[in-house]
Amino acid sequence: TELKNIRNFSIVAHIDHGKSTLADRLIQLTGTVAERDMKEQLLDAMDIERERGITIKANTVRIEYPAKDGETYVLNLIDTPGHVDFAYEVSRSMQAVEGSLLVVDASQGVEAQTLANVYQAIDADHEIVPVLNKVDLPAADCDRVAEQIEDVIGIDATDAVRISAKTGIGIPDVLEAIVTRLPAPKGDRDAPLKAMLVDSYYDAYLGVVVIIRVIDGVIKKGDRIKMMRTGGLYPVDRLGVFRPAMQNIAELGPGEIGFLTASIKQVRDTRVGDTITHEKKGCTEPLPGFKPAQPVVFCGLFPVDSAEFEDLRDAIEKLALNDASFSYEMETSAALGFGFRCGFLGLLHLEVIRDRLEREYGIDLITTAPSVIYHVHMKDGTMQELHNPADMPDLTYVDHIEEPRIKATILVPDEYLGDVLKLCQDRRGIQQDLTYAGTRAMVVYDLPLNEVVFDFYDRLKSVTKGYASFDYQMIGYRADFLVKMQVLVNDEPVDALSTMVHRDRAEQRGRAMCEKLKELIPRHMFKIPIQAAIGGRVIARETLSAMRKDVTAKCYGGDATRKKKLLEKQKAGKKKMRQFGKVEIPQQAFINALKMD
Ligand code: GDP
Ligand code: MG
Repeated sequence: TELKNIRNFSIVAHIDHGKSTLADRLIQLTGTVAERDMKEQLLDAMDIERERGITIKANTVRIEYPAKDGETYVLNLIDTPGHVDFAYEVSRSMQAVEGSLLVVDASQGVEAQTLANVYQAIDADHEIVPVLNKVDLPAADCDRVAEQIEDVIGIDATDAVRISAKTGIGIPDVLEAIVTRLPAPKGDRDAPLKAMLVDSYYDAYLGVVVIIRVIDGVIKKGDRIKMMRTGGLYPVDRLGVFRPAMQNIAELGPGEIGFLTASIKQVRDTRVGDTITHEKKGCTEPLPGFKPAQPVVFCGLFPVDSAEFEDLRDAIEKLALNDASFSYEMETSAALGFGFRCGFLGLLHLEVIRDRLEREYGIDLITTAPSVIYHVHMKDGTMQELHNPADMPDLTYVDHIEEPRIKATILVPDEYLGDVLKLCQDRRGIQQDLTYAGTRAMVVYDLPLNEVVFDFYDRLKSVTKGYASFDYQMIGYRADFLVKMQVLVNDEPVDALSTMVHRDRAEQRGRAMCEKLKELIPRHMFKIPIQAAIGGRVIARETLSAMRKDVTAKCYGGDATRKKKLLEKQKAGKKKMRQFGKVEIPQQAFINALKMD
């Protein structure tokens, strides 16, 4: 395809503003998919994505559009994820296209992730077409939202396209706007091959599939290619485009987006942002690479049934082949036995991986307290990265501890501002800025990441009845008075419940945790003390009283089958428990004990 007939774009939006629905409509209207194959949200492939209504992996699709000017255009859409955890995916796919559709829900207006995502598009020098979606809703106020886009983001919204992705209103205008308002890509067909590795994933039948954007030159099936950063050499087995089903193609030229397979063993052998060229007569200058995604949240994953450890290992290795942003190493815990310490991009990423392990591989898991990476500065001048509170070195050798901080941007309707400020204050936040965007307040806070990773987002949603939006970015490390708090159940330390806390909050946190555990741990035949401690000093304590009767006492001497049934139920319930000394702790307690209200 000639450069002038190609348009490459992505859609940026806050979550739920209708990005996936719009993508579906564009695909449908251009007949890319036969009507009977059209499922809602075609681009959200995985079940979990569908259930949670989020898009995790960037996806691409090639659309052919006969425009009003009589020419047929090839439109390449790269769908980007909208959630904060996956911000790196957004920035990576932005580099591969020249323009963006900025979708804003006309009944909601600009939200935190609208801002975060559109700034990435602006950074990538995109031409941006504002699209006001959901005009079918009675609450839609296009004029106000257009004004807000100009005020807050600073881009011209006079020609914003007004659509309903749900009913189909305005979709043809979006297609025309893509063709007339977004620039064609630039590139040189006769130059040596230079292509960007945009993304890669593992396919059960094809192996590693690599998504590429050709900048210069032409790539053909059978070519021998070189990955400039990793040095890997491969013959191209298969070359194609997504429509959205895979379709083979003989070659990809400048400006085109497609995929290749090349007997690459694992996703880890591909480096996002790498430059692909020909093994012979290749280009000399690689493209500037992207930042690799760094895990920021760590937690331990242990099988409830220790006999399932090998299954867990297999499952984790398989998932890791498909997700290079997820890290893992073996961990042993006195209480939980063998498991893995895993690193994630954020809480959602953690939940998605845990869900997949349980659902797709059928393994019951215990998840330990999520932790960030602390910098522990020792008195001898060295620094250790602490990924797990259980590994905290002896305090006599520690000089000070630093924790990661974030800059959080929160947009919230006026009436909830007070609650949001209180929440941020409670989480040791330092207010940086407070401005107004229409009737919404925009607050910027400097917050410790460890106060955010666990349940900040849930809390924010609940205190604002779902009206607040949130986005964050790492700003660096800073020292604070941090201590390791241990939990002892029946005088046995449960290292899976150890957390790092600020010294001033330790009592409060410890008390809350003991109270929670008291509710979560079932009674036993004996009294159980539950304590929180710093070093050897107990700072909070609760006692779980002994159980009075056992479950079968009532039918003593009576119905034998009923008695047997009850015991079976008990046994099944026990499978979900872990033994700590003489005490059984239900799996759910590990997560729930950490939630702060
Ligand atoms: P995404 O998170 O940006 O991908 O948003 P989705 O495309 O998943 O849409 C979020 C929700 O808004 C879904 O329930 C859609 O059915 C709904 N939605 C999307 N577009 C429209 C629209 O134009 N009008 C109405 N009423 N609902 C819409
Ligand atoms: Mg979506």
